[in-house]
Amino acid sequence: MPELAYLNGKILPIEEAMVPIEDRGYQFGDAVYEYIASYNGRLFCTEKHLDRLERSMQGLSFPPVAKDDMRDALNTLFEQAQIERAGIYIQISRGVAPRNHSFPAESQVQIVMTIRSLPEAHPHAEEGAATITMKDLRWSRCDIKTVQLLPNVLAKQKALDAGVYDTIFITETGVVREATSSNVFIVQNKTAVTHPLTPNILGGITRMVILDICKAKEIPLEERFFSVEELYQADEVFLCGTVTEVLPIVAIDGKKIGDGKVGPLTRTLYGALRQEALST
Ligand code: PLP
Repeated sequence: MPELAYLNGKILPIEEAMVPIEDRGYQFGDAVYEYIASYNGRLFCTEKHLDRLERSMQGLSFPPVAKDDMRDALNTLFEQAQIERAGIYIQISRGVAPRNHSFPAESQVQIVMTIRSLPEAHPHAEEGAATITMKDLRWSRCDIKTVQLLPNVLAKQKALDAGVYDTIFITETGVVREATSSNVFIVQNKTAVTHPLTPNILGGITRMVILDICKAKEIPLEERFFSVEELYQADEVFLCGTVTEVLPIVAIDGKKIGDGKVGPLTRTLYGALRQEALST
């Protein structure tokens, strides 16, 4: 079960995989990424992740990379590593060129991946976690999954320094956007509510799976903007993402959510997501 890297077609130990210092991902954050998880030796939602990777590359006007080639590379790495419960990180940069803001006339995209083990389940899945909120300082194209994650990094660290799990981003006018690496749902009167797809949030693959589960189970659902007051007063709050799965949030900014315990709809959706992930 070796943890491995993929570097432009070669598979090697992670510590031996090196990228030139003039890689544009390193100098400008000029790179996109994906993160895919496996359950029981099977990758979950591969096609959805590859589609989003393609959209992110188009969003930054990268030269196209054939989806079939990406899928082959991903599967080769996954098969070589033989890690049943894995997280695969994929990063594609615009390439290596002398530092200059303008796109290089000649450069080739750099494709790197790592595969590492993931815990079977999220450590806070059972008892839930707490968050804080802070102003969303990110750019206005959060729908493109770029490696420009400094606001997310600072917000996550602020949460950890405050002794909680994560930070939820709020606009100046009090609209709830998303967390540092997860989308946010609230539950109001048995209805699941989440931010609509706009350039201000990442269209999460897990969010998409949860919306499909809600439709299949006839759970009332609203994709609309909601305020920080609605967040505090929700019956239940949960985060969702590839690593986060469905993560109950039981306190925000020191205020209890609902009765401060994991809510029933959150439990149902967690179970349904796990069941789908384990059975595909
Ligand atoms: N929102 C942000 C900002 C993220 O970084 C992520 C995942 O990395 C998500 C939401 C959840 O997306 P997914 O469900 O595709 O993992």
